[in-house]
Amino acid sequence: MVNNGILILFDIDGTLVLGARCHYKAFVEAIKKFYGMEDDISGINYAGKTDPQILREVLRLGGLNEEEIEENFQVCLDFMAHYYLKNVNHENVRSLEGVNDLLKELQRRKVLLGLVTGNLESIAYAKLGKVGLDGYFPFGGFGSDHSNRSFLVKKALKQAQNQYGYNGKHTFVIGDTPRDIKAAKASNLLTIGVATGRYSKEELENCGADYVLNNLKNKDKILEILYK
Ligand SMILES: [Mg+2]
Repeated sequence: MVNNGILILFDIDGTLVLGARCHYKAFVEAIKKFYGMEDDISGINYAGKTDPQILREVLRLGGLNEEEIEENFQVCLDFMAHYYLKNVNHENVRSLEGVNDLLKELQRRKVLLGLVTGNLESIAYAKLGKVGLDGYFPFGGFGSDHSNRSFLVKKALKQAQNQYGYNGKHTFVIGDTPRDIKAAKASNLLTIGVATGRYSKEELENCGADYVLNNLKNKDKILEILYK
């Protein structure tokens, strides 16, 4: 794949799309099935966390020890993915304003696009597929690769270099939470925070985002940042 020396790694929830009812249900059903826990997973703030990280925190909060958690951990994640794919038709996902236009333009300019998301890989692509965005992202780091988000950034970057011939220095991570920004900063990447999730522009600025936007609607502004 030809690329123009710019790589952008996008977060999914709160950045490209909103709506994760089915994803949420997958957690609830999986926890019930494998751990016998009735939990609505409202006890933790899961913004920017990976699926395995969320699962582990919910189970710990429910009083399970590490051994008990480990016993069914992988089958529980596998079930979540299975449940999601089976029920994705009911997912209430929609793409955020400006996203379709922006991705089209970036693709036209041969900007290399990847994902960094806490979603399990199959959930990520099914969710994006529901709004026709899956085809823009040939690779990425996913919750199914590792529970630590900064590893996902490193994985995606390595893939860009090894599989897509990316050797540029202009790598941006775009996300809606302080966790996106921090994970990117661990690899010294440039960051664009978007206030379309649950964090304000101010909060994203305070955690060290290089640029902060209200949303992804202003294509010209984003291109200006990328080509600076
Ligand atoms: Mg997000």
